[in-house]
Amino acid sequence: MNIPSSDSPVRIEQLICTNRFGTFFGVSQQVFDRVWHQLTSPDGESVAYVSMEIGADPDVFHPVMDRLEHARIREHANSQLDGLVQKYLHGPRKIPNYSGGLGVLAGDTLKSFADLHVPALAISLLYREGYFSQIVDSKVGQIDHATRWTPETTPSLFQLRNPEAPEKPLVIEIPFYNGQLHPTVVKAHVWMKLEISGQLDSFVPEFLIDYSLPDSPAWVMESAHQLYNAKSAIIKANQRRMLGSAILPLLDVLGCTSRTIHLNEQHGITVTLHLILQELHDTFGDVALDRISDADILAAAERVSRKIVYTIHTPVKAGHDRFSRELYSAISHNAFQRILNLLAHDEEISHEYNFTAMAMRINRAINSVSRLHRDVTKKQFPAFANKIKAITNGVHHLTWISEQRAACFNQTPSLRSWRTDPSCFCTLAGQDAADLAPKLEEAWRADNRQLIAYVNAMLKRHREQMIETWIDPPNHLSSLPETEWLQPGVFTIGFARRFSTYKRADLIFDDIDRLSDILISLNRPINFLFAGKAHPADEPGKSVLKLILDNQEELYIRSKGLGKLVFIPGYDMQLAKLLVSGVHAWLNSPKRPLEASGTSGMKAAMNGVPNISIMDGWWVEGYHEGQTGWKFGYEGPVEEADLSEAPDALLYTEDAAAFYQALPAILESFYDRPETYLERALNNLRLNIPIFNTHRMAAEYVAQYGLRLPQDQEELIDRFRRLYLSEENGPHN
Ligand SMILES: *Cc1c(COP(=O)(O)O)cnc(C)c1O
Repeated sequence: MNIPSSDSPVRIEQLICTNRFGTFFGVSQQVFDRVWHQLTSPDGESVAYVSMEIGADPDVFHPVMDRLEHARIREHANSQLDGLVQKYLHGPRKIPNYSGGLGVLAGDTLKSFADLHVPALAISLLYREGYFSQIVDSKVGQIDHATRWTPETTPSLFQLRNPEAPEKPLVIEIPFYNGQLHPTVVKAHVWMKLEISGQLDSFVPEFLIDYSLPDSPAWVMESAHQLYNAKSAIIKANQRRMLGSAILPLLDVLGCTSRTIHLNEQHGITVTLHLILQELHDTFGDVALDRISDADILAAAERVSRKIVYTIHTPVKAGHDRFSRELYSAISHNAFQRILNLLAHDEEISHEYNFTAMAMRINRAINSVSRLHRDVTKKQFPAFANKIKAITNGVHHLTWISEQRAACFNQTPSLRSWRTDPSCFCTLAGQDAADLAPKLEEAWRADNRQLIAYVNAMLKRHREQMIETWIDPPNHLSSLPETEWLQPGVFTIGFARRFSTYKRADLIFDDIDRLSDILISLNRPINFLFAGKAHPADEPGKSVLKLILDNQEELYIRSKGLGKLVFIPGYDMQLAKLLVSGVHAWLNSPKRPLEASGTSGMKAAMNGVPNISIMDGWWVEGYHEGQTGWKFGYEGPVEEADLSEAPDALLYTEDAAAFYQALPAILESFYDRPETYLERALNNLRLNIPIFNTHRMAAEYVAQYGLRLPQDQEELIDRFRRLYLSEENGPHN
């Protein structure tokens, strides 16, 4: 349980709060009122954070549940309170509204905003079938199926109520202009998740727009169920509109006043169409559109851009939305078409609208997600080069540090404040470091045992399932005797993330003979643990996943049983946490420079686990020679041609060879000189925790937003910024 031992137990009565929109659980009425007051204050000093996906599963971080469990609270005499407690203790702990790094980053960001008391709210969609669930069959590969989940029973989610009729849900009305002058109004419900700070003294509300109402039109329904449904371009376009068009009606109904809208990727950019329309209306009243000039529209867009802050997350083309003009014209107001013609034109493809280009044009600030990504983005969008700044990603340290590691940090005097101040790890030295080292080693061993036990139990389950289902176990090991399964203490490398071709999950198996020869000549075993989903429409991504399965037996045989490769289906945040703390090294093998940041490696670093990585994304900043881990592969200059994802541009042969070259020294450090390996772990704590956490990132965002915060809070936040500024070269670079 991730809570400090000194904490006084909570009283349930202090965790209930209420306002016009319902009764909620998790923070006191006083905290609730303070936050709501800030979000509705006329000064507008708050941010509305907009994201297509948010990953913040309660099973990896939930301070309220931790408090209930810590206090051994199982029931309550008051039936309303008892209902809430039962829901918290026994409800499902997964909210499958994310697909990968973008969503998890959003969740981690909001948690740090809550911890640092940054006035913020978030807006996303509620997908009744979430992101797809994955089954893996060794013959077929990935099989995707719809996820079933029930927002109604999920702890920490509350459907907002209608203030005039509390027995009914709140309904917001959202305008869509399907090629008409006057809007079609679509109704939606709103769910609120409270992202509560580790100290329970603040929160960030996440508002999830739920379009799946029984009488919603068919075109809304088909776009509302699944995150990143790619069945057709029109569904994709509608999903973007459903996010962008809901923002203003929602803020309006709630009375929220945020002056800043932060677009986490360009998905919500259509909010600017509504803002520009509003500006034109405010300036010209009901004047007919054909009497408004292009210059007037551009002037209105200029005023709107002062509200928008934009984060671009990837140089990969699939991450940038483009829609054919023909398709988009059929679903937009004719004013929107004029705005799009002026601001969303694509430099290369004249018959398409480019939403990334539009986001580049309409904003007051743009940031990329690492220093290298900044340089790449400037090359991709030279017209905006001097606006593009770096704010390197981070992860929420309280979410990703394992319980066993947390217990070690709790016992270390110089880390006393680590929960509220991750920068304190930079002072770890001397006697404290010496005392921590053996404890960290023991905690690591325990986390590794837990992971290996989990994997072996899975192998067994798959073997048994085969008898009842038609599914062939995804792992070759399931068919071998249990004595051949995984052993704790064997050097274990983890790799888990979305299966996209540029991430090259299969890179290190490019030459299985060479890999096997290394293991045999050193006589050292390795476990390779892989997990991740390929988007259902991404056939090349699915092929890479299948290749991982196909390589298992060959590796096992060629290496005489020294190399064991296991695929774990159903990657999610809980599995991520188990992996990043239980493995001995984290592998990252993307094609440079296509991994804009990468965050799973930061989660490993939070636990002291060294990375073995291509010099891409955050690792360019987090790698310190001989200290935090290993690098391999191409690290030369980055040119336009390097952005290609064509198979022959993916540098498999060269980068795989570089991995094989690096491997013997890594094995030697782990098996023969474990003190050098442990020193690398301590260096990750010292050098990487203080920087690659979302508290530091949030502090940089606060500066980007230009929020005026009370002085004591500003000073607290400034401490994180002083340690590292992504735009400049930090103290260690
Ligand atoms: C952290 C995380 C990711 C992102 O991993 P990258 O290495 O940045 O691609 C994806 N999925 C889950 C479930 C995660 O926890």
